[in-house]
Amino acid sequence: MINLELPKALRNIQAMTHQLAEQGFRPISRKYDRIEHGDTPAELKPLAQMIAAARPRGRKAGEGADGADPDAVKNGANLIGIVSVEEMCWGDVGLMLSLPAAGLGNAAIQAVGSAEQKQQYGKLYCAMAITEPGAGSDSAAITTTARRDGDEWVLNGEKIYCTGGQRCDAVVVWATLDKALGKAAIKSFIVPRDNPGMSLVRVEDKMGLRISDTAALAFNECRIPADHVLGSAEIADTEAARKKAFGGVMQTFDNTRPQVAAMALGVARAALEITREILEKEGVKADFSKSPYNSTATELELYRLEADLEAARLMTYKAAWMADNGQANSKEASMCKAKAGRMGNEVTLKCVALCGEAGYSERHLLEKLARDSKIIDIFEGTQQIQQLIVARHLLGLSSRELK
Ligand SMILES: Cc1cc2nc3c(=O)[nH]c(=O)nc-3n(C[C@H](O)[C@H](O)[C@H](O)COP(=O)(O)OP(=O)(O)OC[C@H]3O[C@@H](n4cnc5c(N)ncnc54)[C@H](O)[C@@H]3O)c2cc1C
Repeated sequence: MINLELPKALRNIQAMTHQLAEQGFRPISRKYDRIEHGDTPAELKPLAQMIAAARPRGRKAGEGADGADPDAVKNGANLIGIVSVEEMCWGDVGLMLSLPAAGLGNAAIQAVGSAEQKQQYGKLYCAMAITEPGAGSDSAAITTTARRDGDEWVLNGEKIYCTGGQRCDAVVVWATLDKALGKAAIKSFIVPRDNPGMSLVRVEDKMGLRISDTAALAFNECRIPADHVLGSAEIADTEAARKKAFGGVMQTFDNTRPQVAAMALGVARAALEITREILEKEGVKADFSKSPYNSTATELELYRLEADLEAARLMTYKAAWMADNGQANSKEASMCKAKAGRMGNEVTLKCVALCGEAGYSERHLLEKLARDSKIIDIFEGTQQIQQLIVARHLLGLSSRELK
């Protein structure tokens, strides 16, 4: 039987994270929108410790509560993440990304790291560096190299737009062992942030998420221990095995794309709530009970935006729930990322429009939310790339057949 209500345990997590966002993020949201390239906000450090302490221990994607019936449906790390991320991004998406806690690199280590790697790096703040000046959407085109030299790997190349790349403890870096072998030779490596071979080139000035650091990093004969490769260092010898190996690397995105979709849910919901407050002061109250014939154009617009948010939320929950229950969810992960990313952009900009000068002015957070929402439709795979992935699934075509 389908049940679309969140269970009590998740509602408790939702309420706790909401409190954190309301009291910890919102009061400093505008302050840190105006501070770019600073250190990690001091206010975030105790919050990060609280989150680490509250994080469910030993529960991974696909696992339910201890002692639970193994055949019962599970609400594991993915759904918990979705609910928490929506709440935190309702507070402030840039501040959430600046928390010295879980970065994208942590998701990769959790997905494919060894027990030792999880032990050593699991509780640190790990960024993820895939994008390069010549490789964005086409991540298989990366040119950063890794070569084996005795007991070490040696990395050379350049990465750009690495979230948390300046302030993190370690970076998970994608590099190729042999460019001629294409995707199959791409592996990821854990590079501690203080490694002398990895240098900070610059941090970007940005339209939104200003407090979150976005770094360009250079790797110059960067040496790391041999056991810092994530997963197997072997290059598969058959075409089918090579395809499978890169597919395994890409599977991290099946977990992280719904989390990014949840960022859009939080940002859009914040914008809608602020809009309703502003409009209520002007005498426009959307109570959802009037027929369309008796509603104003503004009320109808609000209903449409609320419905769009709810549709994106249901798709996101579904993709995360499938991951928790061990179901293949690549299509659903891309669908929810595409839907929520677009919804976040449309809802926040419409909210600015509905509130007129109050929407555009810095007196309220609406203009900031519109700026912050844009990137959610870009990183972790753009809107167009998500649509391409969905099309491949629906048409049964490979990435070579549909580019
Ligand atoms: C604030 C910020 C934080 C980021 N954080 C990280 C991070 O932590 N780690 C990391 O590795 N990267 C990160 N990125 C990079 C981000 O993932 C890339 O910007 C994104 O993947 C798009 O790549 P690109 O910018 O090179 O655009 P391109 O790939 O050059 O694409 C440009 C445009 O063409 C479209 N396009 C490309 N190919 C196709 C196609 N086949 N069909 C249709 N349309 C297509 C794209 O959708 C896009 O609209 C971040 C970026 C930003 C701005």
